[in-house]
Amino acid sequence: MEDRLAIIHDMESSVRSYVRSFPAVFTKAKGCRIWDEEGAEYLDFFSGAGALNYGHNDDNMKKKLVEYIKDDGITHSLDMASTAKVAFLETLRDVILKPRHMDYKVMFPGPTGTNTVESALKLARKMTGRTEIVSFTNGFHGMTVGALSVTGNSMKRRGAGIPLNHTVTMPYDDFMEEDTHDSLHYFERFLQDNGSGVAVPAAVILETVQGEGGINAARMSWIKRLEEICREWGILMIIDDVQAGVGRTGTFFSFEPAGISPDIICLSKSIGGYGMPLAVTLIKPELDDWIPGEHNGTFRGNNPAFITAVESLKYWADPDFEASIQRKAAVVEDFLNEMIAKYPDMKGRRKGRGLMQGIASDVEGFSEKVAEHAFEHKLIMETAGGSDEVFKLFPPINISDEDLREGLTRIEKSIQDTLK
Ligand code: PMP
Repeated sequence: MEDRLAIIHDMESSVRSYVRSFPAVFTKAKGCRIWDEEGAEYLDFFSGAGALNYGHNDDNMKKKLVEYIKDDGITHSLDMASTAKVAFLETLRDVILKPRHMDYKVMFPGPTGTNTVESALKLARKMTGRTEIVSFTNGFHGMTVGALSVTGNSMKRRGAGIPLNHTVTMPYDDFMEEDTHDSLHYFERFLQDNGSGVAVPAAVILETVQGEGGINAARMSWIKRLEEICREWGILMIIDDVQAGVGRTGTFFSFEPAGISPDIICLSKSIGGYGMPLAVTLIKPELDDWIPGEHNGTFRGNNPAFITAVESLKYWADPDFEASIQRKAAVVEDFLNEMIAKYPDMKGRRKGRGLMQGIASDVEGFSEKVAEHAFEHKLIMETAGGSDEVFKLFPPINISDEDLREGLTRIEKSIQDTLK
């Protein structure tokens, strides 16, 4: 058989990354399992970086999608009305927004995460008439120019030569770090001091848990205080829930425990439920002042993704669903704490919350090696952080207790192998 990995190495641009970490050609997947072309079975604790929160090929979503396609359901309709879109809006309203007493307009800004961020930045600037945007160190918001300019990762930004004008980066406070300063005092001082060179911004944009930047989880009190400052100064608050949203942290929206009411919410990745591209921007009604066609694009809305999204949102109609994620999150938290205590040589610190957790190791290269060994033990796991210092556990949020345990056992073996 022709070496298919070699075809990728020959033909695909050097920008590819996961091919290096996971040197196999994958072919099938179900739930938290994925198989390569030789039939080797892996546990997937990567979940498409949060795009597969319900695992691969969920039975119900697949059934509805196949029926839709068999019935010649409309695939592409731009933003014309379709029954699939109506079903999505109704389900989002009835299952997610109404029970949370949330009133938002729904915008379909394009196919993927960076599109929702672009729409949020543009709307914030338009509605406030201001230009500056405040973002945070280690934040990640996407690869198109606007989203990149608020992304706190110099490696990703450097190549584009993006000037940092009109964006200001503030330190992000990680609640796991005991010695961090409350950066919001600095933010207020910038705002109060006319000579600071920082104009009152249109918006702040942040993730409540930074997925790419190292699973840094903000304190709820910090998020709440940031909201207060925003209200005081008329600054819009944009929560980028592309990775931390859709149940990843244990509630549908990651910011729910902070009790805030963001002006704009960015969703993508798992909002389509089945790994299909879909992005959604939620906008407070009073801010929804777009002129029709002012922000458009060919792949806005995605009818097959609406079909699977409706099924995925139905998980949330079960009152026990959130509790089941939180229960599994506690298992992961206990496991990580146990690993840190049991293996002091890895110099580990626990990061994150919900089913978005990991360990940051102060030993150089340790986390990458753990992920490599995990691959040998047939478990797929990503690293995160500025120097890949964190190994990141991202099982599907509906994983069974048994599969979760199995994955954790393989991770412990990988830690042991790395320490040998
Ligand atoms: N925001 C966050 C928080 C993300 O994690 C990502 C992707 N990792 C994006 C935006 C960009 O999404 P996409 O890659 O789909 O453009």
